[in-house]
Amino acid sequence: MIRYALTCSLGHEFEAWFSSSADYDRQQDAALIACPVCGDHAITKQIMAPALKGTRRKGRASGAQAFAAFASKVRETIRQTHDYVGDRFADEALAMHYGEKDEKPIYGETTASEAKMLQEEGVPAAPLPPAFAPQKPKKPN
Ligand SMILES: [Zn+2]
Repeated sequence: MIRYALTCSLGHEFEAWFSSSADYDRQQDAALIACPVCGDHAITKQIMAPALKGTRRKGRASGAQAFAAFASKVRETIRQTHDYVGDRFADEALAMHYGEKDEKPIYGETTASEAKMLQEEGVPAAPLPPAFAPQKPKKPN
């Protein structure tokens, strides 16, 4: 099995498993791979950094550890500086985009069709890669 990090033409990032790189090519040619956010079939592989095995040095964080620390910092920053709006995200983002509400940093959830609509309206919102997505707060603010 081989895992690829993929990106659709709208920039949504996701991962998928394939039995081989030829399997990926076959599914890609047949447009069997769809973006889980918007259903787009224009999928490309993300540029990946090589995973180095056995090169971890003592006293120095590995790439994975450094990434985990960075991702945790990003999650914490978003949680502290952005208001969680839950599933009202699309409504809130649109209202700000059209000046009906004062702009403020928010995060929340959208459906796939809402995400697509926001893209089409030119709203500068982007899905967070799972590593950077903060835990859902217990109660929306
Ligand atoms: Zn997409």
